[in-house]
Amino acid sequence: MNIIETNLKFGALSTRKSTKRAILHHAEASKCTAEDIHRWHKQNGWSGAGYHFLVRKDGTIYRLRPENAVGSHAKGSNSDSIGICFEGSYMTETMPQAQINAGRELLGYLKGKYGFSKVQAHRDVCSTNCPGTNFPFTEIAGATATASAPTTTPAPTPTPAPSGPSYRAGTVYTLLADHLRVRTGPGTGYATKSRKQLTVNARGHAYSNGTLKKGTRVTCKDVRKVGSDIWIKIPSGWIAAYYGGKNYVG
Ligand SMILES: [Zn+2]
Repeated sequence: MNIIETNLKFGALSTRKSTKRAILHHAEASKCTAEDIHRWHKQNGWSGAGYHFLVRKDGTIYRLRPENAVGSHAKGSNSDSIGICFEGSYMTETMPQAQINAGRELLGYLKGKYGFSKVQAHRDVCSTNCPGTNFPFTEIAGATATASAPTTTPAPTPTPAPSGPSYRAGTVYTLLADHLRVRTGPGTGYATKSRKQLTVNARGHAYSNGTLKKGTRVTCKDVRKVGSDIWIKIPSGWIAAYYGGKNYVG
């Protein structure tokens, strides 16, 4: 059996002091991911996904809420139970064999780990039809306790937000684009300078409308981040060095 770890970020959680049973649910959604459940439960105002595990139709098992935390899946019964959600809507659907097998393996593992034998359906403890009349409860709940430890798939490394290149005052850069405008301040809201408003040196590298030629070497005097864009100050004024995800100065 394999458990896929996730990067879900939870709000405040408390540690569960005892584990005496597992409670089974269906997602009441034909298709859903760990992230979907986490988002739905956050929208309920909860700390995040209320179940501890999600068993998907393809037999993959995902970790949701940390296993040692009190769940939020069966009102009145969370303090000593592990909540397991099965992808699907089992009032009408039929569970695929791969999902049944994975559910049995997970229950066998949890029974062995915590030494409980009690498995309940959500409807046994709350007024609900969850996990649905078609849910193969006896088959899954009857899994034999096992002693084997699961393998785990680590959570994917979160991709950092693109930050753009870094610029430093005192460094000389080259213009990578042609016709770069020089402005009176760091942003497109500032006026464009005319050729005669540039330094004498810059005029030698400018077109008649005051825009600078590609390949011009500029000394950076100051750097300003505007949203995700980066503006640098050169002796003649401000130019966009990184704008709209594109590098104009390097
Ligand atoms: Zn339920």
